[in-house]
Amino acid sequence: MDFDPLATQLIIFIGLLTGTSAFAWGILAYPLGIAPKASARYALANLLVILGLFLSTYRDDSTSYLFWFGADLSLLSGFILLRWGTQQLFKIRHSIRIDCIFLFSVTLIMLLFKPHYSSNIQLGILFSIATFIIFSQLALDHFIHFKEVKGSTIVIIPITAIALVFFTRAIILLFAPQAEDHLASIAKAEAVPMLWTYIILTLVINIAMFGNALTRLVDKVRSRAEKDYLTGLWNRRAVLLSLDRIHHLWLRNGTPYSVILFDLDYFKKVNDNYGHAAGDAVLKQTADCVNNVIRTTDLFSRYGGEEFLLLLPATNEEEVLMIAQKLKDTVSDNSLNWQGEFINVTASFGCATVEKNNSQQELINRADIAMYKAKAAGRDTYYQAESDKH
Ligand code: GH3
Ligand code: MG
Ligand code: MG
Repeated sequence: MDFDPLATQLIIFIGLLTGTSAFAWGILAYPLGIAPKASARYALANLLVILGLFLSTYRDDSTSYLFWFGADLSLLSGFILLRWGTQQLFKIRHSIRIDCIFLFSVTLIMLLFKPHYSSNIQLGILFSIATFIIFSQLALDHFIHFKEVKGSTIVIIPITAIALVFFTRAIILLFAPQAEDHLASIAKAEAVPMLWTYIILTLVINIAMFGNALTRLVDKVRSRAEKDYLTGLWNRRAVLLSLDRIHHLWLRNGTPYSVILFDLDYFKKVNDNYGHAAGDAVLKQTADCVNNVIRTTDLFSRYGGEEFLLLLPATNEEEVLMIAQKLKDTVSDNSLNWQGEFINVTASFGCATVEKNNSQQELINRADIAMYKAKAAGRDTYYQAESDKH
């Protein structure tokens, strides 16, 4: 069959685009190690897309399983790998098994047709419907992910658009098969619009996935800088920044805020009696159970080894005492089942509410002094900082 010069150039261009993308994803996966599992799948997805397009250019009047079925299956496998990589990236449930069963079913349906130009329309419809299904699912994966994690939902738009393009293609082939030359053959002049669609598809998908990978990377770096590794709570640096923010809000609008500083009692004994791993588990569980009883607007952090700081926006002297009582009960009621033994811990709490002329550090110091009073009073209790107001 004849190769149209423009169509050939576009196919070469797509090859360059997907080849470069595969190479870039490969570099991200190894040696850079940025989202390596997802990046490796994206690299392979691009390679399968080039392979599929390359094979389909050899379609002619002869019967060929490779150039007809092989080409379409290579492209569809690429799309499925794209979905798998995205699920890896988003850390959502994989559907690779179901997708493989789907691909297998598509293969079985394909086998009903002859791998020849005479099946062009039927195979075109099958391929378009399969692509529509995969991209709709990919859009759904994004939708589910962005419902839980805030991010740029804008990438859902091009993915949905691609799904719709293939849906439209299936419909056109179904009801207007005379459009066959436009939509089903690849190396002919009539295929130029479809090739442009492929170029846009490749570009948009790679850019969207690169955006996703970059967002993940930034989130990870930020989380490492602001979160405590063991408990997942904010770390000291992050909570002090938040304290600054809340303090300035108070200076501006006068809504009082409070802090509660607490330290686990006799924690050294937990480490000595059960080991450091048990100590770590107690810290994690204490963090979790306190996290469950505070408001979403409160900021809970690991301030030091076994010392925690809670920032309570819009909370006055009376309210902070009620919260301290609740936290004290929560910590002492909680127990960790460690290899069949129950470990109970208590904590001593110091509360302080911001006052005129207080700096952030003075507020924390007041809470610290109150906490040491609670320790001196026998522990498992809470104290309120004395007021500096006279
Ligand atoms: P107190 O009631 O006076 O607070 O007594 P304590 O034993 O809790 O106080 P102390 O400051 O003597 O001991 C704190 C212990 O907390 C010592 C340290 O080994 C332990 N610790 C600090 N950070 C961690 C951690 O990340 N994991 C574990 N397992 N232990 C930790
Ligand atoms: Mg302690
Ligand atoms: Mg301590």
